[in-house]
Amino acid sequence: MSVIKIEKCPVCGSGDFKKVFDAVDHFSSREVFPVCDCRMCGFRFTNNFPSEDVIGKYYDSPDYISHSDSVLGMTNKLYHLFRRELLKRKIRLVKKDVARKNARLLDIGCGTGYFLHAAKEAGLRVTGIEKNSMAREKASSLFSLDVREESAFFHLQPSSFDAVTLWHVLEHLEKLNESLEKVNEILTPDGTLILALPNHLSYDARIYGNQWAAYDVPRHLWHFTPFTLERLLKRHHMKVVKKYRMPLDAFYISLLSEKYGGNNLWGQYGRAFLTGTAGFFRSLHKPEQSSSLIYIVHKDA
Ligand SMILES: [Zn+2]
Repeated sequence: MSVIKIEKCPVCGSGDFKKVFDAVDHFSSREVFPVCDCRMCGFRFTNNFPSEDVIGKYYDSPDYISHSDSVLGMTNKLYHLFRRELLKRKIRLVKKDVARKNARLLDIGCGTGYFLHAAKEAGLRVTGIEKNSMAREKASSLFSLDVREESAFFHLQPSSFDAVTLWHVLEHLEKLNESLEKVNEILTPDGTLILALPNHLSYDARIYGNQWAAYDVPRHLWHFTPFTLERLLKRHHMKVVKKYRMPLDAFYISLLSEKYGGNNLWGQYGRAFLTGTAGFFRSLHKPEQSSSLIYIVHKDA
């Protein structure tokens, strides 16, 4: 298996790291991966992770919700229940910042295309990028969307999109800096980048430590905070102009973390509810403690 060993911090370029803990791949392989912090800038990342050509098998499970429509288990049922509401909220956020009629939107990692379909219904001209061929086919057959494979991304024309969205996707991309550089290139000068990312400074992340489900090794390579994201974007001449909390993620991630902890079902739900509630109220006053955040990003003039 080819393994990617990070020698230089993708955010600041330093090679001075410390291992914070080992995290287990609870979702698929049960393999263990070291999670490290850069001593210079504090950026957290998974190390020794499988390279792009072999990481596919770590996504292979019917449980992976983003690529599956099966309603399996209570957790998935809840997810599907909230998905509709979340979709509406995403569309509202995009429209708020991208007011232009017929604005062109690119969704990277669009999965089966539910968000793109909703965006199209809301009057945007949409294109998707998705590496999973089954998800791509489903997006085409379900919604007749223009969804291209991953390699097409680096061939997109400069200034060809008013908005680019990555909903819980940037943390999966091996080519982190190259991808952000390309995103900057394909955005118009007044274009908007929207990122949704887990936040390991959140209350639930601190409660669950290395069992926090949103570490999701080795699928999540990069573990952001509002501070390290800001620093990375600066490298690419972009800046965060607004942050939104994703309060429901605290419940969902707590529930998954409990499930990985292997406690009985009612115990899992009880504790997840308490942690989610505590996280929810804390993030009301301190958005930087939210389990996940949505970032609205503009080019830095
Ligand atoms: Zn660093």
